[in-house]
Amino acid sequence: LAPAHIRAISPYQPGKPISELAREMGLAEESIVKLASNENPLGVGEKARAAMQASLADIARYPDGNGFELKDALCRRYGVAMNQIVLGNGSNDILEMVAGAFLGPDRDAIYAQHAFAVYPLATQAAGARGIEVPAKNFGHDLDAMLAAITPATRVIFIANPNNPTGTFVPGAALEAFLARVPADVLVVLDEAYTEYLAPADRYDAIAWVARFPNLLVSRTFSKAYGLAGLRVGYGIGNPAVIDLLNRVRQPFNVCIPGLAAAAAALFDDEFLQRSFELNAAGMKQLCDGFQRLGLKWIPSYGNFVTFKVGDGAGVNQRLLRQGVIVRPIGGYGMPEWLRVSIGLESENARFLEVLPAALG
Ligand code: PMP
Repeated sequence: LAPAHIRAISPYQPGKPISELAREMGLAEESIVKLASNENPLGVGEKARAAMQASLADIARYPDGNGFELKDALCRRYGVAMNQIVLGNGSNDILEMVAGAFLGPDRDAIYAQHAFAVYPLATQAAGARGIEVPAKNFGHDLDAMLAAITPATRVIFIANPNNPTGTFVPGAALEAFLARVPADVLVVLDEAYTEYLAPADRYDAIAWVARFPNLLVSRTFSKAYGLAGLRVGYGIGNPAVIDLLNRVRQPFNVCIPGLAAAAAALFDDEFLQRSFELNAAGMKQLCDGFQRLGLKWIPSYGNFVTFKVGDGAGVNQRLLRQGVIVRPIGGYGMPEWLRVSIGLESENARFLEVLPAALG
């Protein structure tokens, strides 16, 4: 039998796949709207698609285990060195590498209440102790997180923007926080949604790595770059941190199509801009809809928004019967809320159309 700390884990609950709902409800797949996993409703950009398709000629071979081309592209894009980058099978993989390399029994990790579910999961899987710090206005309370540090703390996870609440900590506050974190505590700044920040909110965490050797910035190609199904993420940090992560990384953890598509997507500014604009317009569409219905929501900086319905599980079930998949977040301690991802205009409209009846 597995040890107690593994048996204590409650598994990650992904959004329901379209095919599964179609079967369950006897609905046509085309009629289903999935706004449950913070995916990019535009799909895959043309440059990424072309690169991915060209790469398929090589898939009888193993991928480049060092991901040279993608790392080279990241170096050019962000002005960092090769040895400052680790690639992941999605950024989830980066989080797990952190837990594998820096956590273990007798060590603890700090994360916020209502923060991304993988932080407690990865911490528990490593046999470490998780310290959940109460949220402030649904977001990270950085002072409380600092106060929670113990001699056994080795990792602090921060999602900015946070999922599922969409909250955001301004760059200046993060910088001040980093200056106060002890040098032997790694801060994982999870920026899965950073590309959705409005220009006025943007900050450059990668530039901070030179000053804070205990900072690891984690990002993904799953969201704004539209490549969730290919599973590509990356971490940027101090070479010593990256070296440790590479020791626990699987040898060929990113697949050939993923490496190729990500390298192309990184320079597709036009696609990124379209994704950003569609998201901003969709966010307004949904929030205007919540306002009309008298529903409360948490202002979000990501590509999703969390809104209050009372009976989250019940409303979710009624939405599912109408072929609309959103995300219940009872597992995040928010059973009265649901999270909806920003979709295409027509998908957002469909969701808003069926929502009043689903509210009961
Ligand atoms: N961090 C946060 C905050 C997320 O919301 C997600 C996706 N749900 C991830 C990391 C992981 O995404 P991926 O593994 O697809 O990069």
